[in-house]
Parts: sequence; C-alpha cells; structure tokens
Amino acid sequence: MKAVLDHVGIAVKDLPAALAFYRDALGLEVEAPEDVVSQRVRAHFIPVGASNLELLEATAADSPIAKYIDKRGPGLHHITLRVDDVHAAVQQLKARGVRMIDETPRPGAEGSTIAFVHPSATHGVLVELKQSAVSSQPSAVSRDSRVRRFSIGEIELMSVCDGFIRFDGGAMFGTVPKVFWSKQHPTDDRNRVLLAMRSLIVRGARTMIIDAGLGDKEDAKFHEIYGVDRSRNLDHALAEAGVGVEDIDIVLASHLHFDHAGGFTVRDAGGRVRPRFPRAQYIVRRGEWEDATHPHARNRASYLRDNYVPLADAGVLQLVDDDQMIMPGVKVRRTGGHTMHHQMTVIESGGKTAAFVADLMPFTSHVPDPWIMGYDLYPMDTLAAKQQFVKEAIEKEILVFFAHDPVVAAGYIREENGKRIVVAGG
Ligand SMILES: [Zn+2]
Ligand SMILES: [Zn+2]
Repeated sequence: MKAVLDHVGIAVKDLPAALAFYRDALGLEVEAPEDVVSQRVRAHFIPVGASNLELLEATAADSPIAKYIDKRGPGLHHITLRVDDVHAAVQQLKARGVRMIDETPRPGAEGSTIAFVHPSATHGVLVELKQSAVSSQPSAVSRDSRVRRFSIGEIELMSVCDGFIRFDGGAMFGTVPKVFWSKQHPTDDRNRVLLAMRSLIVRGARTMIIDAGLGDKEDAKFHEIYGVDRSRNLDHALAEAGVGVEDIDIVLASHLHFDHAGGFTVRDAGGRVRPRFPRAQYIVRRGEWEDATHPHARNRASYLRDNYVPLADAGVLQLVDDDQMIMPGVKVRRTGGHTMHHQMTVIESGGKTAAFVADLMPFTSHVPDPWIMGYDLYPMDTLAAKQQFVKEAIEKEILVFFAHDPVVAAGYIREENGKRIVVAGG
C-alpha cells in the first residue's frame, strides 16, 4: 500500500493562543476556516509542504472535539494518510486482523472516501485513511453542491448552490480548442459541459445574497435543453445554511442572465410572479437593467423578463450607477466584458479580502488569460478586467468565489513557475 501524509489534526482549546504560535511565532499561513456543521467543528488548515496541519476548534459543547479535549486535553487528535484505493486498503488491513472503526469506507469531506482505523491497532493514534475525489480519475468531475462556509474578518461567507445546468462546451471556452478543455470538463452526448449555479451569502452588518441561481419558473422543455438538475437546489442550501428567505436584507445581482437572476422571483399558486425574498431590496446596476429590459438579437436568449421586471413592479428594485459600497466591507466593481455592465463583488474585513467574480471567471479553468467564454459580448474587456483582477488576487491572497465551477466553490489563485493555479479554499 502506498500512503502519503495528508494532514495532522490538532484539537485546539484556545484558538487565538494556537494561532499566536502556529501563525505568528512559526510564521505559517493559515487558510480561511471551514465549518464542518455535522461535526460542530471549525477546521483551520495550515499548509506545510506537501501536507497540512489542521487546527480543530469545537463550535458547540457537544462537539466530538470538545468531548475529546474534556477527556484528554488539547493536542494531537488524528493523522490522515492518503491512499489511492481506500476500499483495497481496508481489505488489506482487515485481512491482517487490524481492528477498524469503519469496517467499510464512507463518504468524507470534498467528495473523498474515508475509513478510520481503531486506535487500539495504531498504538494510540487515531488514523484516518482517505481517498481523494479526483486522485484516481482526474477526468471524472466530482460535483459539489454542499454549503461551504468561510469567514473574512467580521464577515461570514456561505457559498450556496442552486443545482447544475449544462451549456455548450465550445461556448464556455470561446477560442480555446476542445482538446485543451475536454479532459477537465467532459462533454455529454450533446457537447454540453456541467456548470454549478452558485450564489454567495454575505453576513455582516446585514444579510445579503449575491445572485440566486436559475430558480423554479422554467418548464420541462427548458430543463431538457439545458440539462438542468435542481434535485438539490437553493431552497435546500438555504435550509442547510440556516438562512430563511425572510432573513435576506439585500439581493445583489452580478448581472441579469437567467442562471444568476432566475431565483430572484417565484411564481405563486395564482400564477403571479413575485419577489422570492420578501424583505429584501434588490440591487442591480442601472446599465445592466437597461440592457436586460432592451435586449437585442445576440443577448435575448439570456434575459427572461419574469426574473426581474416583477421586482420593479413590486417596488423593491434599487438601481446603482457606479462602483460603490453596498454595506460595510462590501463593494461592487464593474468588470464589463461578459455584459457591458457585469459586476463583481469585493468583500473586505479584518485585513482579508474575498471576491465573488460571477461570469468574469466562471470556472477555475478560466483563470488563464486566453480562457474567455464565447458568450462574452466584449471579450477584450473580459481580458483586461481579468488581468487586473488576477494580479490583485495573487498579491492580496484574495479568496475567489467561482460561480459555475462544479467542483471548487472558492480558492486562492497562485502563480507557480509562470503558471496560474487555483488552490481550493477551506
Ligand atoms: Zn452570464
Ligand atoms: Zn453565468
């Protein structure tokens, strides 16, 4: 069996004190934390070469980590070894009489499969075996629609998903030949590739959602053309995130295409279309509003009036003209390119920055300069906006949220040997 050290989990009682050592004294970089809701634990990953340290902080008194600390004190909690085939590894261990906690492997975080070995067999160390989602089959896209939680200073960010849709692969990658993108984005029998429809909930001075996916107003024919899969949709994600539609104060639009604005409205039992978030003000850039309400032959198929005109009728529409602050720490910034007035959202708090870039870079594969969608109305503007933003994202270590990547909800852009890569966040 070939096993690689993936990470070392450390149960932490006093997080600020632990950060004072690992981050400040050792000078290591701590990634944005990720909440594992089911375990009532917050995980802070610290890359150390090919492996990570994982500081585990209990978020509730009944968390397994809290119980562990009560019983044994803070300290080494587990080590995780990465294997190519966790089923084969478990079989091999069982054949040798090794006692397992998990007799059969089970699903772990980020599409992985895991199995714990019993500490009685490991000389007192809890050992987790893990098979990563993509290690054995890089071409098999492992879709991920879970709620992902992050925090930036005082602001809480939750990436939520309205399910999946399929668009033409050629249109998604513009002038980039299929041989370059098809390995990472396998096509179906109609040459379509899979897109997630991700929104971002921003909880700070107020509670905001940026974009809201496709929504449920479209008919079976539409779903068939675009291969829509909303079996797990924004309603499920909001419930998992613990956010009700009435909790949303602000709905912010990156732009008004149906895969971003469809979920702004719902059709009620009487057939009337009304705003989905009953207390919210909906913020749209004025130029985008003008374009969406006066479509032309090239963009008409993307703009469906029922997604936004009812907002004006209901008096909940607020148009903004310029780049400006939407709430403390949250600013919109026009990128143009995809549409003339397409905008991204930049979130800053506690010296950290995150950005929801919407269709500026829909997939992580769109990070390299020439990877620009055929859908974009002004591709050279996309190029300029992207070059400027990516430079900033690398320098400031911005946590970038990708609206359509089926696997990676958020990540950090890095440059290694002149090549841009995205390191998944959290
Ligand atoms: Zn779009
Ligand atoms: Zn889009």
